[in-house]
Amino acid sequence: MDRSLCLQSFRLSRFNPRLTVWRPSSPSPRLLHLAPPFLLDDYVPRYHLISSVDAARKRSDAYAHLRNCNLCPRLCGVNRFEKTGVCLIGADVKVNVIAPHFGEEPCIQGHNGSGSVFFSGCNLRCVFCQNHDIAHERKGFDLTPEQLAEWYLKLQEVGKVHNINLITPEHVVPQVALSILHARELGLKLPIIYNTSSFDSPESLGLLNGLIDIYLPDFKVWKNATSRRLLKADNYAKAAMESIKVMHSQVGDLCFTADGLAKKGILVRHLVMPGKDDEGREIVRWLAKNVSKDLFMHVMEQYHPDAHVGKPKRTTKTHLQVEEPGGNPAPGEVKEKIRYDDINRPVSQAEMSSVKYAAQQAGLWRFNEVAEHGGFNI
Ligand code: SF4
Repeated sequence: MDRSLCLQSFRLSRFNPRLTVWRPSSPSPRLLHLAPPFLLDDYVPRYHLISSVDAARKRSDAYAHLRNCNLCPRLCGVNRFEKTGVCLIGADVKVNVIAPHFGEEPCIQGHNGSGSVFFSGCNLRCVFCQNHDIAHERKGFDLTPEQLAEWYLKLQEVGKVHNINLITPEHVVPQVALSILHARELGLKLPIIYNTSSFDSPESLGLLNGLIDIYLPDFKVWKNATSRRLLKADNYAKAAMESIKVMHSQVGDLCFTADGLAKKGILVRHLVMPGKDDEGREIVRWLAKNVSKDLFMHVMEQYHPDAHVGKPKRTTKTHLQVEEPGGNPAPGEVKEKIRYDDINRPVSQAEMSSVKYAAQQAGLWRFNEVAEHGGFNI
């Protein structure tokens, strides 16, 4: 295809991603499925574009947040130089692992890996946490923002990674902001990813505006009863909705360079939960209607029982007898009761399919999977 037709097709496809064109040699129209213009020629990280005045203001705001913490919907209001709130992390960050990581989406990990920083601690208490040993057990080493920035440089220079991926950073946003501002002085050139549960506050996202290139938010559950029971947080969905809207307003839909690597925008993940596919369907419908139909979406199926799920129930007796319908113990049969039994299994194929189908029906079309049309989903 000549270049002028190609460019014209990209412009037209902004309005119709499944563009139909006639080719002179074709007997019938052919669906080209060209992507809207989500391709970038080149990319300069956003933190290189903010002025020195704005950078100084962000530094001062970061310290103010730490002195009266309102960085997540818990709103503890503690001075983190003196004590800790629900997240149990003070003014320095605690980091569990820093390394190139190959467990992310292909457009994030590329060939060299994503430069991942796994922060210890979390502002949620998900009973099924898939990173339980890191998020809940506070293992790791303490770093100042300046030391953290030096690690970003090591990932860039030694690891040759494609980006810096901040994993579970909601409770250390001021330290992260300070580290990015320091790293830009040291010569960091990589896009920054904010990999979040979406239990963020407008204040922390305001502090991050101009510093983050890619937002990678989870949208976990829809019902408040579920968030209270499984995340130990009230109004999770409300916080996630507000946060994802703010993130999208800052960076827009996901954009790539021609090498297939994501450089800027938002990629939303939803981990389908056993028996909660109805909540998954609500979530994808809400995203399509209220954020963008061009949203890049990863409907994830790797849920496995972890953390507190499937553990024996706390009881003074070591074993509880299973009772027959009439109320009598089944003769000779003894079985332990377990915690969160309803989610103590993998998700079924039917549950996965129903969420994906609802997403497509709602108008979403950019998924983290092989495209049905055989082309790229970029
Ligand atoms: S970040 Fe930590 S201290 Fe701050 S409001 Fe959230 S849980 Fe509380």
